[in-house]
Amino acid sequence: MRRGSDDIAVVGAGMVGAAAAALLARAAPGTPIVVLDADAPPHWSPDDEPGLRVSALSAASQRVLAACGAWDEIAAARISPYASMRVWDGEVPAGGPGAIRFDAADIAEPVLGHIVENELVRLALRNALLQLDNVRLLDGARLESLVLDGERAELGVADGRRLQARLVIGADGAASPSRALAGLEVRGHDYEQRAVVCNLRCQLHHGETAWQRFLPSGPIALLPLADGRVSIVWSTTPEHAQRLLEMDEESFRAAVAEASDGCLGEVIAAGPRAAFPLRMRHAPVYTRARYALVGDAAHTVHPLAGQGVNLGFLDAAALAQVVAAALAAGRDPGDPALLRRYERWRKPENLLSMRAFDGINSLFSNANPGLGAVRRAGLTLVDRLAPLKGVFMRRAMGLEGDLPATARGVA
Ligand SMILES: Cc1cc2nc3c(=O)[nH]c(=O)nc-3n(C[C@H](O)[C@H](O)[C@H](O)COP(=O)(O)OP(=O)(O)OC[C@H]3O[C@@H](n4cnc5c(N)ncnc54)[C@H](O)[C@@H]3O)c2cc1C
Repeated sequence: MRRGSDDIAVVGAGMVGAAAAALLARAAPGTPIVVLDADAPPHWSPDDEPGLRVSALSAASQRVLAACGAWDEIAAARISPYASMRVWDGEVPAGGPGAIRFDAADIAEPVLGHIVENELVRLALRNALLQLDNVRLLDGARLESLVLDGERAELGVADGRRLQARLVIGADGAASPSRALAGLEVRGHDYEQRAVVCNLRCQLHHGETAWQRFLPSGPIALLPLADGRVSIVWSTTPEHAQRLLEMDEESFRAAVAEASDGCLGEVIAAGPRAAFPLRMRHAPVYTRARYALVGDAAHTVHPLAGQGVNLGFLDAAALAQVVAAALAAGRDPGDPALLRRYERWRKPENLLSMRAFDGINSLFSNANPGLGAVRRAGLTLVDRLAPLKGVFMRRAMGLEGDLPATARGVA
């Protein structure tokens, strides 16, 4: 039996785990770090069709990825900047009252964010990790057991390998096996919605704009892709999602054009479709001795605001900042008091965002006619009040809030 000993073990090399490892490895160059993932390494090629899983990345996430050494590779490969966002209530036209338009130019920024394929982000982060000589990457390594007592945590991999670390970072996604092994619970509720995703070519160019129309069963978003296509995220009831998956292509194209109120004209071609269940989850406690949660392992949010991985990158950056400072001062990175400092930083920020997205979903995914008037009045008000609109934009872009140094571009 091989037993490896590292200072830090990151469970999960998804976008958030890989970012946490890269930030820590760069901030604490002498610290041995092991990253294990149950899956095979990511695959992305410019010759492949754009992937079905994409994320709207904020300016703060861009800075975090730059601090990881991954952004240049992402930007050179395939990204789609967007400078505007249109959000409107299902009962009104895109440009009418009850609609809201966010423009980067209003707050003197060049873009609101970038749409990037998840697999490309994972690949660029992996390549950044491969450059760091204090990082070991274990592919196809499924964590099966975890003992957190004592001077070092003990990690058991399904293939029999045994690892030791002073700190274990749980970045293993919404179902997080490490969270369960660490004895931390998770709370939340099912949105009773599924998100149908698909890449489409429309009659009109997206104009570097992200579009989102709220319908009573959930929002439909059309996100701009680099090749002029759009990636849709259509949140709807599970029954409707199933029908959308099973429809022939012509009916599906017509359904998308109708649901998006023809904002980009006819839908000309549609690629493969997939659907994901939507749940709100939050771990009431993020840390214990020798263990800390980041990303979807700590919280999952509704995709309507496109913030899930953006929150996760801020977790990774905050944890890396706290732990790197402790290592530099010769402290134990698994000290529970130290890890609670990270939790006190990120939990209120995440809760604030989660409650806001939850409230928006309840207000908008609702057929109650009384609420329709409230929604339209609220959207019109925000659209007309430039300072309030600026606050929303800055917050979503990660330009405001209690941000880690790497997210502010100062580390
Ligand atoms: C339809 C949809 C649209 C979205 N759009 C956006 C968006 O526009 N913007 C945005 O910010 N967010 C968006 N999100 C959210 C975003 O996709 C997630 O927040 C993000 O992928 C979470 O990343 P993660 O690294 O925390 O977890 P994951 O991506 O789930 O990664 C977890 C990793 O852990 C590994 N793992 C699991 N179990 C084990 C084990 N036992 N041992 C070892 N490894 C293990 C897995 O193989 C995986 O690689 C969207 C989500 C959905 C569903």
